[in-house]
Amino acid sequence: MLELEGVRAGYDEIEVLHGVDMHVDEGEIVALIGSNGAGKTTTMRTICGILSPSHGRITYRGEEIHTEPSHEIVERGIVQVPENRDLFTNMTVIDNLLLGAQTDEAIANREENLAEMLDLFPRLEERKKQRAGTMSGGEQQMLTLARALMGEPDLLILDEPSIGLAPHLVQEVFDVVEEIHEQGVTVLMVEQNVQQTLQVADRGYVMENGRISMTASGSDLLEDESVVEAYLGV
Ligand code: ATP
Repeated sequence: MLELEGVRAGYDEIEVLHGVDMHVDEGEIVALIGSNGAGKTTTMRTICGILSPSHGRITYRGEEIHTEPSHEIVERGIVQVPENRDLFTNMTVIDNLLLGAQTDEAIANREENLAEMLDLFPRLEERKKQRAGTMSGGEQQMLTLARALMGEPDLLILDEPSIGLAPHLVQEVFDVVEEIHEQGVTVLMVEQNVQQTLQVADRGYVMENGRISMTASGSDLLEDESVVEAYLGV
């Protein structure tokens, strides 16, 4: 579905990704883990067209996308949930959700999708008329995720969806990820919460210094000594 081949990218003169190869197959949950500054967010931004690779290529369903602007990549069905929440703080929960529908198809289905999101996230239903900026950090995180889903993604890209959340909300985020995956959405996620992520992931990639250093099934990575030592705090 998505393939990165030899992708190099970075900021101005500084190269952060030094040739990244990875792929995501339809129907998978794929995790990208790695230490701080390894280049995970940079990888996500490059896939979504916010950064352009200086070398290599990115294909989606067999077509090159790395030369496309981000709105065209969204049109193709790739929707990113950014690490910073990026909400319209003065607008209500509902209005923020409605703005998540960007493609013609998502706009046509937005009332139906809105009802589905309020069902999936009861906390947003309770607070649907509240201004987004007055919600708690965890609630804003949920809203960011729900807004992305309003875009009807085929491939959902999540960057640290559980960052800063209380433990019971972390679980809620993982439950939602599994639920939308069951509904047929393919997921690529970056997460600090390595244990829980590898438990839900079909496959994972470990990134070190702008390169993929290891890839295996989620369960194999959970048992790998170097992964346990570096990322599971044992
Ligand atoms: P973390 O787990 O800490 O979020 P990460 O693996 O997502 O880390 P990136 O955010 O991709 O890492 O950052 C990789 C490198 O790129 C870091 O050295 C960072 O300082 C640098 N970097 C990130 N954003 C920018 C930017 N806008 N301009 C210049 N350098 C940047």
